[in-house]
Amino acid sequence: MLSAENLQPVFSSDTISACIQSVYGKQVVSVQNLGSYFDQNFLIVDQLNEKFIFKIHDITERREVLDMQNQAIARVASRIVSVDFPLVQATIDGSEIGEIQDSSGRNYWMRLLHYIDGELLADRATPCRSIYTELGITLGKMDLELQSFNHIAAYRPDTAWDLKNALLAKKHLPLIGNPEIRRIADYYFMLFESEVQPILGDLRKSVVHQDAHRYSVLVNSNDRVTGIIDFGDTVHTATIFNLSVAAYDAILDRTDGLDMVAALVKGYHSEYPLTGQEISLMYFLIGARLAVYTAMAAHFRVTQPDNVHAQLKSKSVSAALKYWISVNPARAEDTLRRACTMPSILPTETDLNNKITKREEHFPTSLYTHYERPLYLERGALQYLHDAMGHTYLDCVNNVCQWGHCHPTIARAIQHQVTKLNTNSRYIYDVMAEYADRLTATMPDPLSVCFFVNSGSEANDLALRLAHAYTGQRDVIVVDKAYHGNSDRCTEISPHRIDRPGKPGLPAHVHKIMVPDAFRGPYKGADAGKKYAADVVNVLENITNEKRGVSAFIAESLVGTGGQIVLPGGYLEQVYKHIRNSGGVCVADEVQMGFGRIGTHIWCFESQNVIPDIVTMGKPIANGHPMAAVVTTPEIAAAFNNGVSYFNTFGGNPVSCVAGLAVLDILDSENILANVSALSEKLFLRLRELQDKYDCIADVRGLGLYVGVELVTDAALLTPAPRLAKQVVEQLKGMGILLNTNGYDNNIIKIKPPLIIGCQDIDRLVDSLDEVLASLILE
Ligand code: PMP
Repeated sequence: MLSAENLQPVFSSDTISACIQSVYGKQVVSVQNLGSYFDQNFLIVDQLNEKFIFKIHDITERREVLDMQNQAIARVASRIVSVDFPLVQATIDGSEIGEIQDSSGRNYWMRLLHYIDGELLADRATPCRSIYTELGITLGKMDLELQSFNHIAAYRPDTAWDLKNALLAKKHLPLIGNPEIRRIADYYFMLFESEVQPILGDLRKSVVHQDAHRYSVLVNSNDRVTGIIDFGDTVHTATIFNLSVAAYDAILDRTDGLDMVAALVKGYHSEYPLTGQEISLMYFLIGARLAVYTAMAAHFRVTQPDNVHAQLKSKSVSAALKYWISVNPARAEDTLRRACTMPSILPTETDLNNKITKREEHFPTSLYTHYERPLYLERGALQYLHDAMGHTYLDCVNNVCQWGHCHPTIARAIQHQVTKLNTNSRYIYDVMAEYADRLTATMPDPLSVCFFVNSGSEANDLALRLAHAYTGQRDVIVVDKAYHGNSDRCTEISPHRIDRPGKPGLPAHVHKIMVPDAFRGPYKGADAGKKYAADVVNVLENITNEKRGVSAFIAESLVGTGGQIVLPGGYLEQVYKHIRNSGGVCVADEVQMGFGRIGTHIWCFESQNVIPDIVTMGKPIANGHPMAAVVTTPEIAAAFNNGVSYFNTFGGNPVSCVAGLAVLDILDSENILANVSALSEKLFLRLRELQDKYDCIADVRGLGLYVGVELVTDAALLTPAPRLAKQVVEQLKGMGILLNTNGYDNNIIKIKPPLIIGCQDIDRLVDSLDEVLASLILE
């Protein structure tokens, strides 16, 4: 029974007065309706100026449950003298639970409880740490006492607020309007499934109050806890849930929530020692409780729009969800363990050194790690990365987990499909066809034939083979400084890798055209696109002079690794025209720029107003799951059917397809393009303010949330400043923000965060960049 579905009683104050007089023998002086989720609660004052709480419960609330609550109250009240509990006042005929009927003849249970004087914890702006330690002590005492308490009605299998049933509330998630809050809540439901549910059976169980939040805890002016009220959610469940609910409440409306949880845990542990396992679960239980509250509040907004009580904490819980996901779970566990004087679980710097040495045993030195001191990662949480050392990083650079790390929709889709079917594309299975339908629906005609592969390099490699099969030619034209992948064929078309001093240079069949860099290049202004595009004419002539023809032109529609260079207007239109006139095909490499990164369009080539013959995609296509694709025209695909069979063992497997489908779902359901466009505008505005402030920022460029900040040592000569760029990146890492450098000279700060990043994250990023630049420039 989900009590939320019950009919809430509606009794008038007069009826209540009359009833209390006749049934309890008390002369009522005043009646005040206090509101509640499901019941009706009144504050009663009698002629002796004694105060009571009169509760009316829907009759579907079983009588035994109310009896269990009464007995639990009596038990803790008889043993814990330092705190008051709402003892039950019997009726004239000695009954603790009475019956009352409304005007329509419907019956309800009623109870009269002693009122406890004191200030609600909710009335304290920011309760101090010692209150939480006190509360922890009280809850520890209660749990110790109730360990030996038992009542058949405490075994309530389906109460929505019992944390073991957290997932019951998950069905209300779609009612949460704000995609950010919905996503974080879902993330915590997912962690509940993976971290808590499997070990629920192992946890200590007892009857617990499980509702020690700010409206159930009374305090006095000396910061002492004086009362615990509202035993309506008392149930037999995992004992640690009691403390976890209090902890969830303790993190609301503050930025030092973890410290308050530590204070609670310290107090509790002193009375009722926690196990290491219980402590390790608290982070996830707090997250789950935040998720349950948000989902239930969304449900009540629809089912009980006038119930203000059910929305009391909505804003605070939303803010707390954002705060809690930025807390590193390992740090949380360690902090709580230390509050219980248990040894730390965080690795030391020596442990990390050993990991680095170990890595060198098995991996080539060419596989270098980012940053001076590598990151030893443990978890991803949407826009955050949590390392094993207890730090949290705001990830502003990983464009693969484009919808955020461990996005629950994608993680669940993958989890579900691996338990169902994973095979290869030589069979028919629906998700592959469905994915191809959905993916090609995002593209203009005639791009309708899909090849599913496993990496951006494989996609580009295959694109070149398709072009070769279609044109019969081998020569490829690329944009200078471009990067297209790691296979032999892709390395050959990546000037960024091989066409620089000390490197082999491009092979004879690969030709570069000048990068259309309106910042450093010779052409600027309105006709720059046309002028840069003219370079391809010379290259095409050279190829023809050699008695060869062009097979393909391949380019990103914004040069990514080459330095975040935005193509000038009309550039691709012109180049594509020349290439096609010469019989070549045009390949758009969307590996970095696709799937909404630029905000205005799903595909970056759309921003150049062209339709490629072949589109390659990868990186964010499945949010980090290894997958990539080539989409082309039926004509080109047919030419590839030339007797040389192409098969890709993993490409298009059902697990990858469902991951890809989930990515496309999120693109719509989380309003990604609109978010990117809004945040991009803000980011550019703020970065350009920094540009005005610091001479070392020579340029701020990019599209959507793919942004480069070019640093120079000399504003007039535009001398690249790779050392400064590296320092900036390292210092920001020290401040918990991940960025990286990019470009031919590594002097460009690249900003390409998950697209679900928030407005506050953009502010934090730019404020921190400002702070770092100020300190480095003044050095
Ligand atoms: N094309 C572009 C534009 C890329 O940026 C990359 C990777 N950085 C690739 C292709 C190659 O993709 P992958 O690493 O998945 O092989």
